[in-house]
Amino acid sequence: MSALAAEVGAVNLGQGFPDTDGPPEVLAAAREAIAGGYNQYPPALGYPVLREAIGRHQERYYGLTVDPQTQVLVTVGATEAIASAVLALCEPGDEVVTFEPYYDSYAACIALARATRRTVALRFPDFAVDEDALRAAFSERTRLVLLNTPHNPTGKVFTRDELILIAQLAAEYGAYVVTDEVYEHLTFDGAQHLPFATLPGTAERTITISSAGKTFSTTGWKVGWLSGPAELVSACRTVKQFLTYVGSGPFQPAIALGLDTQDDYVGRFAKDLGRKRDLLSTGLTAAGFEVARPSGTYFVIADAAPLGVTDAVDFCWQLPHTHGVAAIPVSVFCDDKAAARTLVRFAFCKKDDVLQEAVRRLTHA
Ligand code: PMP
Ligand code: GLN
Repeated sequence: MSALAAEVGAVNLGQGFPDTDGPPEVLAAAREAIAGGYNQYPPALGYPVLREAIGRHQERYYGLTVDPQTQVLVTVGATEAIASAVLALCEPGDEVVTFEPYYDSYAACIALARATRRTVALRFPDFAVDEDALRAAFSERTRLVLLNTPHNPTGKVFTRDELILIAQLAAEYGAYVVTDEVYEHLTFDGAQHLPFATLPGTAERTITISSAGKTFSTTGWKVGWLSGPAELVSACRTVKQFLTYVGSGPFQPAIALGLDTQDDYVGRFAKDLGRKRDLLSTGLTAAGFEVARPSGTYFVIADAAPLGVTDAVDFCWQLPHTHGVAAIPVSVFCDDKAAARTLVRFAFCKKDDVLQEAVRRLTHA
């Protein structure tokens, strides 16, 4: 979709990446790190300066204590953290419970591990967890729950009750939980991100994943990390060693500085995104879509059925040509394609004038 958007000059609200770079201090710190000699292989777990900053961040925001020496692993984006965790924890034939729609790398990583995914549908427009469906997804073969909150592509922030239910079922079935919290800071209207590992009794079975790409709008730096019990982190590290070994050398100290000094920036960024969510949601509604207002991430799902659309895949292929806007059909994130037949995901991590232009094109063309 990004290639098509570029080809036809469409406003690209498909792939989720910001069109404004993150805090200048963080960008400057990367340049300084290059000048200062951070250009060879970092240590296998990541530079201590970053692991320590991750530990402080977890403590400051969530009261979570992680030992930077043994409980944190720096990865090549959250993407590698997900792959390492799934490959480390799953054997062929194991089952992984995840929610659908799901971020696309989940299905690929579960397949790489030759495990089986058992998905639980989150249904438009409120995307609530259905307790019976969740229970039914667990079995004695369940090895792992792969959770994502705040959730791409729905923008859902899982509630405390939903997370407690997941925790209870994981405990009952002896399953690990890998929780992808890359949008941890991107929530709106007072919606509170609750890290899964803060729930009672969960820490010993949970791997938490995040990414500087989302928090600091540095998606191209590919600095991510995971944290959890030392023996699980060690298992992930064993996998990671043979995926990439290490990565993102000079960006690691720069992100450490970001985690230590940019809380105000992050607060402003989230607030700004909340406003952009409103701008795009209002515009999509005016254009005739039915919009599910997200509480987090930088994505919004809109139903194109009121526009007479019967297949969002066709619609999204046509939209760059007909209206000069690119978006993603939600069915690409689903096993049950029919359930998402008319749903479209738009990204709103774009400059106001870009969003306004997209709205203008969608409402007037
Ligand atoms: N998980 C989710 C839910 C995401 O949306 C993304 C970003 N597309 C990732 C993981 C990957 O993060 P990174 O770019 O740090 O690899
Ligand atoms: N996370 C972003 C998205 O969901 C981009 C990642 C990707 O393109 N693989 O659009």
